[in-house]
Amino acid sequence: MKELVLPLPDEAATVALGAALAKACDRASVIYLYGDLGAGKTTFSRGFLQALGHQGNVKSPTYTLVEPYALQPLAVYHFDLYRLADPEELEFMGIRDYFAQDAICLVEWPQQGTGVLPEPDLALHLSYHDRGREARIVPLSPHGHQLIDRIHGQQG
Ligand code: ADP
Ligand code: MG
Repeated sequence: MKELVLPLPDEAATVALGAALAKACDRASVIYLYGDLGAGKTTFSRGFLQALGHQGNVKSPTYTLVEPYALQPLAVYHFDLYRLADPEELEFMGIRDYFAQDAICLVEWPQQGTGVLPEPDLALHLSYHDRGREARIVPLSPHGHQLIDRIHGQQG
């Protein structure tokens, strides 16, 4: 499948998509999250993290750039690069160590880290659509293709 377009009529649908992708993610993965401010990138991440057992709030790590979550079966690193001034800053914070680990990386504003971030398995594009949102999920690696097929299977 080349891409999957899903309507997200309300916040619960965004959370549910995050949960569905989390349950499909059985190995190290890099997921880029695109969309304007308020499009639902952090809401999606909350659904993802809570489905893996994280309890409590999830906020964008806008000032710290990354928030680690020690979850099972894989750790999750949630990035928000909105305020990143220069992709080189990522080198200084040891970005390669994060991505070298057996972990899942969710990256908000990946376009801010061009040239330094590794290629993603999957890109999720969130856009405003009427009063809700629309998700466009694009696989960008063999693993990304597996993930999108699993998600598609769950949509019924
Ligand atoms: P971002 O991280 O992309 O800036 P957030 O997830 O922080 O966006 O905020 C998105 C806002 O939109 C939240 O107030 C959330 O409740 C709301 N929201 C999320 N998904 C939907 C949806 N599918 N339909 C309507 N509102 C949504
Ligand atoms: Mg956010």
